This record gives sequence, structure tokens and C-alpha cells, in this order.
Amino acid sequence: MKIDAKKQEQLRQLPGVDKVLERMLEDETIAALPAGLVTLQARKAVARERERIIADKGGCAANVELIAERGKQLTIASIQPRLRRVINASGVVLHTNLGRAPLSMRALQLIEETARGYSNLEFELSSGRRGSRYNHVVEKICLLTGAEDALIVNNNAAAVMLMLAALAKGREVVVSRGELVEIGGSFRIPAVMEQSGATLIEVGTTNKTHLRDYRAAITEQTALLMKVHTSNYRIIGFTAQPTDEELVELGRSNNLAVVEDLGGGSLVSLDLPGWYEPTVAEKLSTGFDLVTCSGDKLMGAGQAGIIVGKRKYIEVLKQHQLLRALRIDKLSLAALEGTLCDYLAGCLAEIPTLRMLTAGDAELTKRQNDLCKCLRSLPEGWKLECVTLASMAGGGTLPEVEFPSCGIALTPPANDVAAVERFLRSWRVPIVARVQEGRILFDVRSLLDGDAEEIAAACMAWEDEATK
Ligand SMILES: *Cc1c(COP(=O)(O)O)cnc(C)c1O
Repeated sequence: MKIDAKKQEQLRQLPGVDKVLERMLEDETIAALPAGLVTLQARKAVARERERIIADKGGCAANVELIAERGKQLTIASIQPRLRRVINASGVVLHTNLGRAPLSMRALQLIEETARGYSNLEFELSSGRRGSRYNHVVEKICLLTGAEDALIVNNNAAAVMLMLAALAKGREVVVSRGELVEIGGSFRIPAVMEQSGATLIEVGTTNKTHLRDYRAAITEQTALLMKVHTSNYRIIGFTAQPTDEELVELGRSNNLAVVEDLGGGSLVSLDLPGWYEPTVAEKLSTGFDLVTCSGDKLMGAGQAGIIVGKRKYIEVLKQHQLLRALRIDKLSLAALEGTLCDYLAGCLAEIPTLRMLTAGDAELTKRQNDLCKCLRSLPEGWKLECVTLASMAGGGTLPEVEFPSCGIALTPPANDVAAVERFLRSWRVPIVARVQEGRILFDVRSLLDGDAEEIAAACMAWEDEATK
């Protein structure tokens, strides 16, 4: 951009950082903050104004007051957390971008209690000696899945990586071509395989893989037969895969471990429309030697990778150097143990993910009525419609399963849909909703207690702003 005489004059008038800083420090709140931080933000405010002048967007070049005000805002914003609670009105229960599973009270309480102070994370209270962080949850997971043993790592990607590195490095792993899954770009079976040092042997075709394909691929070099749950897509039509029983039997007769990356990690049978999601326990009882899954998908806990199965393999994984690098932290472990307590106590309705995924007509209609009641106080000009919707599980789980859901479609006055949607995202508790055909859709399946009131408050605030 050309710097003409006018811009040069404006740039000359720009106050120095010291002048702006002085003004900013007149504010007591700002003056109480670390000097280094305030100076940096003063410098940033001046630099931004310089850029605005150069881009022809300047306006307050000589106005120290205004630039100092911006510097103060930058300073205040810089000490606020950026990570915030948001309201999920998208209907997608396990929204990876919105943090996947919301936690149960028991999980939250255990995090709070153990993280506020010290805990017995790796301390054996009975003997006073060093303990293992895994022991807290292993027994519970075994009770819930029928597994012999278990190991927990950072996430399921880490679980798969550890399993392959520990059991198949320098050797071959046989996988069906129909199962070379990609989960959200950063997890692709062929790439994970390569990273782990194992060689991927692809068998079959995209739509059909037969038991004989697996059998023909077995050599001296084979370490594992591996199944990958196609948790975010479906292959339909002219398809074939050997049954789990056949694959397990083939592994057994060849002295090979058969493992599965199960992804979703359901601990209980979910009655889902048009989809059968196997539980971890079912997979183990079929005879898989190891099964891995996520903690924050269908299980409804925090981020974690859960590896369950035969003790002799878990022992090998425990000895691997990677375990330390992939280990789960104490907050996620507390989230997991709290959630597992809910399962063991039979309090499934207290696990938000399960409650939302299995919410029936009665509960959804009640939530719809609640939201409708809250929004009814909006003035004329806003159009409210009760609508039926279809929501998804999300988070790379239950592909193509549409959960019949319901919610409210809101048409703001003056067709300000885009502006209202933006306003909702910038609300004190940001609200994420869908926009469709000029309406804002609030799907009640993923709403939590209190969200309806907050949505109504946001719409009222928009109304107030607009009528100002
Ligand atoms: C989700 C998923 C993963 C990745 O799990 P994270 O816990 O997100 O690391 C790996 N494999 C399958 C089959 C999955 O569904």
C-alpha cells in the first residue's frame, strides 16, 4: 500500500508507546497487573493503529485516549481464559470440536477432589510404597468388560500406537482394505502402522474381504491380525467380511494374536435406530486378544485410550518405553474412574453422553417445551416453530445413524439470521446452533440443564441491542 502525504502525517501524529502506557496505568485494575504484560499490550495497541492507518482504516491516530482504551481491552482479554464453556445446540452429542463427552457429576467431583490437593495417584496407601496409576481403574474396567487385564493411555490413537509398537514392530500386521480408517485426518491406520514400525499387509478389497484373504497373508513375519472398527463410515451393498469368530479362530490356529481397534468403546448395549454397536465385553468374549477404544466417545468419560484383553499381552505393553510418553494424566484418569463408578453403580442416566444418546420422545419433548417456554417472551417479529430434527452421535461414532430429535426453529426479525447466529457465538456463554433455510435451529438433544434459559437470555439481549 502506498504511503501518501496524508498517511505520513497521521503516522507522525501517532502517540508514543510511553504516552499510551501512562494513560493505561491510570486505571487501577490495569496498574495492578504485571508491568511487562501491560507494556506489551500498549505496544500492540499502537502497532495496530499504525497498521490501520497504512491500510486506510485508521481513525484515531492522534487520540491517546482511544488507543489506551484499546490497549486496556487487549490487556484484560489477554488474562482471560480462551477455553470456555459453550452451549451445544447442534444436536451432535459427541462433537469433537466441542470437546466430545460432557462429564458426570461423579467424574467432576473426583477431578476436583483429587486435583485440588494431593492424591494417591501412584502411592499404595496400604503398604506406604510406590503404586501404579493404572491400578485405580483396571479392576473396574475388568469388572465391566470381563477382561483379564487392562492398560490406560492418553487416547485411543496412543493405544493403537502402543499396541502395534509393542507387539508388531519390524513384523507384519494383516488388515482388511475395507478397514483402512481415517479418523479426523490425524489418525490414519496406514500412517499409524508406519510410525509404529510395523508393516501393514492389506488384504481383500474395499467392499469384500474373505477369511481366505487373511489366511493367505499369514507368513513367518506375521505378528497380528487386526480389525479396525469402521466407526465413522459404512460400506454397504455387495460386501463381505469374515465374522469375528472366524477371524479369532484363524488367529488361534496360527498362534497369532487377534486385536481390534474398536474406537467407540461402548460399555453397555445401546438401543440405537438402524445400527448395531458392539460392546467391549462382546468383543472380548468372542475371543479378541486385545481391544482398544476411546474414553471420551460412547463411554462418556474424559480423553483416554483403553486397552483391554489378555494379561500376557498387556504385560508386554506395560514394559514398552512408549508407555511413559503416552501415559494418561491424573485429571483424565479421575474423569475415567468417576465415570466407571457410575457404570458399576448402575447410574447410567447420570452419564450425560448416555443420557443424551438414549433420550426418548418424552424427554426430548419436555426439553423442547422448556425451550419454547423460555423463548416465548421474545417480542413480536421473532417466529418460533417446534420442529422435528435428526441428530447425529458425532465424534467419529455411529455413522449414518440418525437419531430422531426435536427442537426449535427461530426466525429472527428482519432476516438477520447470520448476524444473530454470530451474536449467539459471541454471547457470554457462546451458543453453537445450526442455520438452515433462514432459520436458526436449536436441537434439544445436546442441551444440558440451564441451557434453555441462557439461549433465551441471548436472544433477548440481541433484541435489546437491535432496538437501541
Ligand atoms: C476415534 C477413533 C480413533 C481415535 O481415538 P482418539 O481417542 O480420538 O485418539 C482410532 N480408531 C478408531 C476406530 C476410532 O473410532
